[in-house]
Amino acid sequence: MDLKEARIVIVGAGQAGARAAEALRAAGHHGPISLVGEEEHPPYERPQLSKAVLIDKEPNPTLIRQAQDWSDLEVALLTSSSVVAADAQRRVVALANGRELSFDRLLLATGTRVRRLAELDNGPLPVRYLRSLGDALALRPELKPGRRIALVGGGVVGLEVASAAIRRGCQVTIIEKADSLLPQIGSGSLADYLRSLHSSKGARIVCGAVAKRTISGGLELNDGRLIPADLALVGVGVEPVTELALQLGLDSRRGIRVTSTGATAIEGIFAAGDVAEQWSPGHDRWMRIENWANAQNQAIATARSMAGIETAYGAPPWFWSDQYDANIQIVGNPAGGDEIVRGDTTDGRFTVASVRDGEVVGGIAVNSARDMAVLRRLVASRKRVRKSDLENPAFELKRLLAA
Ligand SMILES: Cc1cc2nc3c(=O)[nH]c(=O)nc-3n(C[C@H](O)[C@H](O)[C@H](O)COP(=O)(O)OP(=O)(O)OC[C@H]3O[C@@H](n4cnc5c(N)ncnc54)[C@H](O)[C@@H]3O)c2cc1C
Repeated sequence: MDLKEARIVIVGAGQAGARAAEALRAAGHHGPISLVGEEEHPPYERPQLSKAVLIDKEPNPTLIRQAQDWSDLEVALLTSSSVVAADAQRRVVALANGRELSFDRLLLATGTRVRRLAELDNGPLPVRYLRSLGDALALRPELKPGRRIALVGGGVVGLEVASAAIRRGCQVTIIEKADSLLPQIGSGSLADYLRSLHSSKGARIVCGAVAKRTISGGLELNDGRLIPADLALVGVGVEPVTELALQLGLDSRRGIRVTSTGATAIEGIFAAGDVAEQWSPGHDRWMRIENWANAQNQAIATARSMAGIETAYGAPPWFWSDQYDANIQIVGNPAGGDEIVRGDTTDGRFTVASVRDGEVVGGIAVNSARDMAVLRRLVASRKRVRKSDLENPAFELKRLLAA
């Protein structure tokens, strides 16, 4: 079979699935492409859901392409369509409505779903989660001036919603199990900065405590404290959507394990985006990378490989978060080395480089996008640097690239 004529089915019409479909066509793939998503909306940009969609006067979600553009690209976009079964021998997937789609090559881009806290669900306090456009559109009208919002989880989603809620005039309490905010990143300087940022905007921060149950008018913590609230938003991480991969017999306990070209252990079946488990040299382990840039770029590389142009992906993880007026960007593994802070963490503009064995393995830039451009190149190139240069505030970071 001519690979360029292969029938391709993509399960999951999120960032990864959508960009993969585009990249297949860009790579010269002529065969039929079906892009199947269970959400009712055509593929859209998810990062806005905890930012502009909650804050702006009008929600205005950004679609990756208008519906018509998918047909112009000759991609059959099936929305509100759940794939419920996959068969590697017969090379078919089955939709919930009984329809079967045959494939020669299959891409699993099923993403993640929120981790739910059963002990909080179905109690007397309304509890919300945020993953989809539908979730964001339902949350938006709840953020009314004076409403008391409890954010359970001080990770990126919780902190961004805290920022949006404060902008909308709500009273906010952030509850985090760990001793500091954004514990996933493992940076003391960033955690301290975020604590003072959110406190200065009026958020109450409760670290080292767990929400035990909801009560009428609030939440009870494990230490007995009561947090007054009209609504709780839970943001305690996500889990990979791997049911189809498990049916296919793929190793997918923590995500669908893939090679650098996106291939799974089954010939012709690939995985991309949040659901894919990749080897991360900067972290020395297999991991899923849950960010927009990975969903887009690892999916594009995988699509090219599916089209017969072997393309390895290995960029270090990079993501951004917007909270109030702070743009926070993180690359690589900031917890993987010794932190060197450049600039003043109290004035809302600083950079952190994390150095291990003479290499920058991770970095953080707060309102310092130019520094981040340098840090991304340093982490990717594994170029050797002198700690003394980084520690010298007068030394320009970009000189490290030339050295
Ligand atoms: C609120 C929010 C804010 C974010 N902000 C940022 C940010 O600022 N910066 C950043 O870098 N990243 C951010 N992210 C993360 C980023 O959006 C994700 O990493 C990215 O969207 C992952 O894309 P994906 O296509 O792999 O998965 P998803 O976006 O999860 O898409 C997977 C899709 O597959 C569908 N699906 C699953 N199973 C099936 C099935 N069996 N049949 C049919 N369809 C199925 C799902 O419904 C979903 O639509 C944010 C995420 C959220 C939720």
